[in-house]
Amino acid sequence: MLRDTYVEINLDHLAYNIKNIRAYVGSVAIAAVVKADAYGHGAVEVVRTALENGVDVIAVATLTEALELREHFDAEIFIMGYTPNENLSYVVQHQLTQCIFSYEQAVILNDLGRKEGVYPKVHIKYDTGFNRLGFKDSKESVDEIKRLCQLPYLHVEGIFSHFALAGDDENKAQYKRFIEAVHSIQHDFKYRHICDSISAIDYPEFHLEMVRVGAILYGLKSFRKHDLPLKQVLQFKTKVYHIKKIKAGEGVSYNYKWQAKRDSVIATLPVGYSDGYPRNMFEKGMVTIGGVQAPVVGVICMDQCMVDVTDMDVKVGDEVIIYGDGNNQSLSIEMASKIGGTNKNELISRIARRTPRVYIKDGKILKVLDYLLEGARYGHKEKN
Ligand SMILES: *Cc1c(COP(=O)(O)O)cnc(C)c1O
Repeated sequence: MLRDTYVEINLDHLAYNIKNIRAYVGSVAIAAVVKADAYGHGAVEVVRTALENGVDVIAVATLTEALELREHFDAEIFIMGYTPNENLSYVVQHQLTQCIFSYEQAVILNDLGRKEGVYPKVHIKYDTGFNRLGFKDSKESVDEIKRLCQLPYLHVEGIFSHFALAGDDENKAQYKRFIEAVHSIQHDFKYRHICDSISAIDYPEFHLEMVRVGAILYGLKSFRKHDLPLKQVLQFKTKVYHIKKIKAGEGVSYNYKWQAKRDSVIATLPVGYSDGYPRNMFEKGMVTIGGVQAPVVGVICMDQCMVDVTDMDVKVGDEVIIYGDGNNQSLSIEMASKIGGTNKNELISRIARRTPRVYIKDGKILKVLDYLLEGARYGHKEKN
């Protein structure tokens, strides 16, 4: 590995989580949500493990995410977001399942299907209150959906909605609007789905035929009413790469915003905000070295940051836990997201591509993925 800052992805934990989710949802289909490069975990390896452990559908946000995965997998791939009209031919050509919420797009896909002699699969998005995407909940929408279900080359496989998670009463109201609309549409949908991770755990009575789960795959818990044993999949690590002694009164980093109150020992780490480590960890954040917490000192730079290791036994090359599993004094993703003033999904999905992913399977390193070096040839000199 050519970089000391990396993300460790435990595929055994991912498999453990999927088994527990399967036990919880029973025969309901599981759509593994792997948008945003599987929330920073690396979509290709996550999908491989997810399929090995029996998930039914792979769900992404964008056409390009779907195309990346289609290069590797024959599985059902569902694009939950919008794809512009001019790109719908890719959906058909690569047998992707597309979210649609207009009669116009239904007609375009139907025409493409007729031309190619195939039946493009779609899931209708029905907006029950979130006000993001979807047919607005109304009689007109229901009529339009009924009409598009008649298009001969369109395979209307599913219909779905999304919870705003604005409280128990509103969740129940959204579910009711959804079920009433589906009932009036009178189409034989294979998949009706409305649950994300939180609602899949908290409202087993809302599972219908499929749940779309992201966060819980990765071992992140936000549900409130029920519990499910999960193991966090990701840890973020680096190594100490410089140590120096400074005198009381000396400053560290831009504007000397932090100044030593006593003679101190400062370690420099090769991780900065462009790696996805939030800049506002300054004055609040800490990392763990040898099971001891070291506070972040000075403003976090683009590629580096400094921590106070005074009174600690630290040397260059020591392992540093940026986000750990919460054991051994490490900050879990949950704790780190609170300190960083964000949520867990944002914290991990913005870990940068220049940070290699190291995959662990059966307790051993399976693979190192360095996006920047993919396709590059090292150790070989290109002739001519
Ligand atoms: C991201 C997303 C999900 C998964 O959300 P989690 O809270 O991570 O389970 C489900 N459905 C849609 C439409 C999404 O965009």
